[in-house]
Amino acid sequence: MSDDNKDRERARKAAAYKKNRELLLIKAAIYRANNKDKIRESQKAWVLKNKETLKKKHREYHAANKEKKNKQSKLHRLANAEKYEARLAQYREKHREKLRNQAREYYHNNKQKRAAYAAEYRKANKEKIQAYWRSPKGKTVMMNARHRRRSRISKTSTVASSEMLALKRKAKSCYYCGIKTKALTFDHIQPLAKGGAHTLDNLIMACAPCNSRKCAKDPHIFARQVGLLLI
Ligand SMILES: [Zn+2]
Repeated sequence: MSDDNKDRERARKAAAYKKNRELLLIKAAIYRANNKDKIRESQKAWVLKNKETLKKKHREYHAANKEKKNKQSKLHRLANAEKYEARLAQYREKHREKLRNQAREYYHNNKQKRAAYAAEYRKANKEKIQAYWRSPKGKTVMMNARHRRRSRISKTSTVASSEMLALKRKAKSCYYCGIKTKALTFDHIQPLAKGGAHTLDNLIMACAPCNSRKCAKDPHIFARQVGLLLI
């Protein structure tokens, strides 16, 4: 067929299609409705046959439209925040054990990376961190952490943090040197490191210099050093 004939044939087909468009569309819809399973099967087969090509195209499209796609999904997430949160919570609940193990594994396998990141963060956020530890929340967090540490070491914790707070509020001066100050720290008379218990009757308030001088010394040796004991 010559090029002229080809063009003519194409124009004829286009005209016929235009003329019968509606009828053709109806016919196609009827065919689809009657052959749902067959169509689905052949579509599936086609997708399976062209899996690699489709994957490649998909990847190429994503690479070419990365920013657009990211922006789109970000907007979608923002617009459907509650739905996403709910789905995320559901996922976490369902895969709790797996996620925990993953986190543990990551924690152990990335010690250096974590340390480097933490150091970087501390360096970049020095003032923010200092402000946090000075804030009421930071102070409570620190106190609870110390409390847990003491309990862990002594294994005989019977003191509640509320009792410790009460002790701190009541104290007006250092147990060892008697200096009047509000900047008092907790001290175990018999140090935890020497088997002392983390109990209320083993706790006193001491000024920072006395506390650091005493450290984990035996209370009698320390008392002698600061002149509280003569023998
Ligand atoms: Zn003191």
